[in-house]
Amino acid sequence: MTITAERVLQGDPLKIADRCDQCGAQAFVRVLFSQNRDLLFCGHHYQRHEPVLMTRYPYVSVVDERHKINQKPSVSANAD
Ligand SMILES: [Zn+2]
Repeated sequence: MTITAERVLQGDPLKIADRCDQCGAQAFVRVLFSQNRDLLFCGHHYQRHEPVLMTRYPYVSVVDERHKINQKPSVSANAD
């Protein structure tokens, strides 16, 4: 079975190992500029950059998985 790079990039859900390009936190949004060029953002940084990104690059594809933030209990979720 052959999987093209494009399919992998677009179909791959974000993994815990995917990190925000700005701060290194877990990434929840992937912005695809082209087949081999993307940016990863945490929820915080995507929210901050979204207006500029969507204005300058309205054609990009966005994989937005922010609904997964805090979906699964984590060690830090036990804080409260
Ligand atoms: Zn970030």
